[in-house]
Order: sequence, then structure tokens, then C-alpha cells
Amino acid sequence: MPDAPRDIEALIEIMAKLPGLGPRSARRAVLHMIKKRALLMTPLADVMAEVAATARECLTCGNIGTADICEICESGKRANGQICVVEDVADLWAMERGHAFAGRYHVLGGTLSALDAVGPEDLRIPNLLTRIADEGVTEVILALNATVDGQTTAHYIAGELEGRGVLVTSLAQGVPVGGELDYLDDGTISAALKSRRSF
Ligand SMILES: [Zn+2]
Repeated sequence: MPDAPRDIEALIEIMAKLPGLGPRSARRAVLHMIKKRALLMTPLADVMAEVAATARECLTCGNIGTADICEICESGKRANGQICVVEDVADLWAMERGHAFAGRYHVLGGTLSALDAVGPEDLRIPNLLTRIADEGVTEVILALNATVDGQTTAHYIAGELEGRGVLVTSLAQGVPVGGELDYLDDGTISAALKSRRSF
């Protein structure tokens, strides 16, 4: 049985590389989009081209937006002296969905990992230290995932922050062992933030 025509097959191959999709789901998604061309495929192509041209990392915190400095860093209201350190942009967005945190963020872009040879210089840790001085930060909340690498990274950052006059806290109960922020419901994130403890 012949496969789909070459262009369509190419689209399926790209889609199959997306997280959560394999070849079979990619094929179904592409077929569905072709059937709903006006409703789905054309708007998707338009918005993808737009986002591909404009999306960028915030130069300050690493959030993804469409400007050099994201809306959170730009907003004076978010300058409350707190910075919440997260591994990934998905974690930042999860925190924002919970509407529990009023300060600013710092996205590391991963965790320290001996296995994958990720060192402090590969993460946004030096920028974090600069921000603490520049932005008058009084509290750093470590909202790293409850994985081994997440906790190793939290300990490393806490060590770097020692003697800099900032309170270092971490999310408390509610974050399950091995848990990742992006998979928690908003209420759980909110509870974990409220009952955060000194690190
Ligand atoms: Zn930002």
C-alpha cells in the first residue's frame, strides 16, 4: 500500500517529532487537519508562521514572548522583591496559571546534570546572581521539580546565594516526589507556594 504523497508524508514526519505524538497520532492529526483545512490547517499555518517569526526568549528571565523583555519583567507591579526560579518556561506558565505568585521569574533552561554534562555555565545561573543585585531582590523561591537533578540544582543555587542577603525558600508540600510543576493542578501549586519553607 503506498504511503501518503511526499509533501503530506513530510508533514507527518515533522509532526511525529512533537512531544506526545508518534507516527500514528501524527498521521491522524494531519488527515484531520486536511479535512478541516479552512477551520484548522490554514489558521494553524498562519499563526505558526507568525510565532516562528516573533517568538523569542526574554533577555532578563528567559520567558518566551514576542518582545526582548517579557511582560512580567516589564511590569513594575511584579517588582515585589521576589524571584521564583523554575527549570523551564512550561513551569513558569504553570505558576502563572495558578495566579498565586505576584513576583518575577527566572527560567534556568534545564537542570544541572552530571549524566548529560550540564554545568552551571550552561544554565542561566550567572544572570540570576546579577539580577539579585540589580533588582533589589529579597527572596528567591526555588520552584524546581522534585527530581534528583532538580533538587541537586536547588542545592547548588542555594549555595551560590549564601551571604548575598536574600532569603532562599522552596516550594513545600504538595509537590509529589518526582513531580513536575507543569503537571500539577493550579490549587496544588498555590498551596505549595503558600506553605513554602526556608531552604
Ligand atoms: Zn522576562
